[in-house]
Amino acid sequence: MAFAFSRLIISESNIITCKDAFELSKEKSFRIERLGNASCIGEVSSYSIWLGFKRGVPAWKCSCEKIKEPCVHAIALSLIWDRTRSVSDPDEENVAYLTRNHSD
Ligand SMILES: [Zn+2]
Repeated sequence: MAFAFSRLIISESNIITCKDAFELSKEKSFRIERLGNASCIGEVSSYSIWLGFKRGVPAWKCSCEKIKEPCVHAIALSLIWDRTRSVSDPDEENVAYLTRNHSD
């Protein structure tokens, strides 16, 4: 099961948040606490994040309490989670394409 969770939530975000998330995901200030079949709990920059699905829809929750869009921590953890499943990072073009379709 090599689904790319980052690609799913990046489409809910914007390019600036995504770029920041890429930088965060390269730092050492993260930790994966629990990996499930379709969920991931972890910590990025001291924020606690849950990633998973609710009724089949990608969902996230972060202690920074940004709700409307996935926050930089959630996106950073999604990249890290994908890497644990050997899913490569989306490239810049991919991110630009995914976020362009974001309308909110
Ligand atoms: Zn957050």
